[in-house]
Amino acid sequence: MRLSRYFLPVLKENPSEAQIVSHRLMLRAGMIKQSSAGIYSWLPLGFKVLKKIESIVHDEQIRAGHVPMLMPTLQPADLWRESGRYDDYGQEMLRIKDRHDRDMLFGPTNEEMITDIFRAHVSSYKDLPLTLYHVQWKFRDEIRPRFGVMRGREFYMKDGYNFDLSKEDALHAYNRHLVSYLRTYERMGLQAIPMRADGGPIGGDYTHEFLVLAETGESEVFYDSAVTDLTFGDRDIDYDNVEQCQGVLEEFTSKYARTDETHDEVVFQEQVPEERRRFARGIEVGQIFYFGTKYSDALGATVQTADGQNVPVHMGSHGIGVSRLLGAIIEASHDDKGIIWPEGVTPFHCGIVNLKQGDDEADAACNQLYAALTAAGLDPLYDDRNERAGGKFATMDLIGLPWRITVGPRGLKNGVVELTSRRTGESEELSPEEAVKKVVAIYAQHQTGRGF
Ligand code: ATP
Ligand code: MG
Repeated sequence: MRLSRYFLPVLKENPSEAQIVSHRLMLRAGMIKQSSAGIYSWLPLGFKVLKKIESIVHDEQIRAGHVPMLMPTLQPADLWRESGRYDDYGQEMLRIKDRHDRDMLFGPTNEEMITDIFRAHVSSYKDLPLTLYHVQWKFRDEIRPRFGVMRGREFYMKDGYNFDLSKEDALHAYNRHLVSYLRTYERMGLQAIPMRADGGPIGGDYTHEFLVLAETGESEVFYDSAVTDLTFGDRDIDYDNVEQCQGVLEEFTSKYARTDETHDEVVFQEQVPEERRRFARGIEVGQIFYFGTKYSDALGATVQTADGQNVPVHMGSHGIGVSRLLGAIIEASHDDKGIIWPEGVTPFHCGIVNLKQGDDEADAACNQLYAALTAAGLDPLYDDRNERAGGKFATMDLIGLPWRITVGPRGLKNGVVELTSRRTGESEELSPEEAVKKVVAIYAQHQTGRGF
């Protein structure tokens, strides 16, 4: 993309309504624009990162054997009356009447709808196990929408639902989700720690929240500092292997890590040596639940077993806060100049800054770099505007592309351009060909998301 043809409405001033750094930087970098409280338009740069995050979520869900689909945002109230949640959900649910005076609602989650789909089409144990998921907009009329996309009213969520014949099978589905979530967050350059949590209105005894540690997080967490040493890495996993998935769950959840709702000070002190006890804040970027037959009982979702009995299916639901993740990633990765995108989710792989637009040699070198990076399958952003170098650098630093190639007449006389890491600020002079090779090699090590 050439910046002169893109739509990147960056702000010079700090917007006064933003209380935390991720919100401030998303507004300043022209990623989002508030439409009403907690509801945002996703401008091109924000949309691009959102889609990259979404594509990583899809990759890892499909890898785990889960099946993508799409359910509508608007739901009939009657389904929620069946489960009893129409009244329970309270004011967070946005209720709507259509022209025929029928009660509708903007879905805050989809347990009822997916159970309705299941009961209409599945009746035999032979069709199990099954996990269906979608990535769709949700609406929760939060009393205090704030922090930009972190606590929106309209937000983008991946929610998946498993259907299994037994509790044992459903717990394997739970473990599969835990493993796939660990992989998902790591690909986004994030450490998200599974912590024992509380069931809340969705209900259930088995539940973990995934938290990214950050001072601006809304959750209070207590943990053994040893959990922060765990990484999933690129180990091979067979998602059908029950012991292997259970092993990962045990590895990542056996050390003390709980949100304030489940924290137990006595157990904390018993289990964790004093020097490893931590109290901090975190951002909830996902949650997994096993809730047994709660919804299948209420909605009558049963299957016939091999010996002809009808039994309710065991279910769980599993969510990732796709739009919240943009905020979480920025909270975890920025400096005073702007965002620093991890390679896995960066909107563009590499920036190209032309120090002297209109100089024949500099223009030609930039065009060649652009063509070579594009031919290698990368997506560069070329700042071809007639702007001062200082302004171009400030924009690149603000929008946070991890790599920048700077091209100017002086360097070109010596046959070099400059390759700079946004994270370390370190630069090296390389021939244009070497610079391209290096950037290509860096991205060969990352499975990046797909954007637009
Ligand atoms: P919270 O406790 O933050 O209100 P929740 O536990 O009610 O979230 P879940 O039902 O577990 O949310 O939804 C799954 C994921 O969706 C959460 O882990 C979070 O990342 C994201 N999420 C929930 N509410 C919002 C919101 N208002 N804005 C943005 N993302 C949200
Ligand atoms: Mg939650």
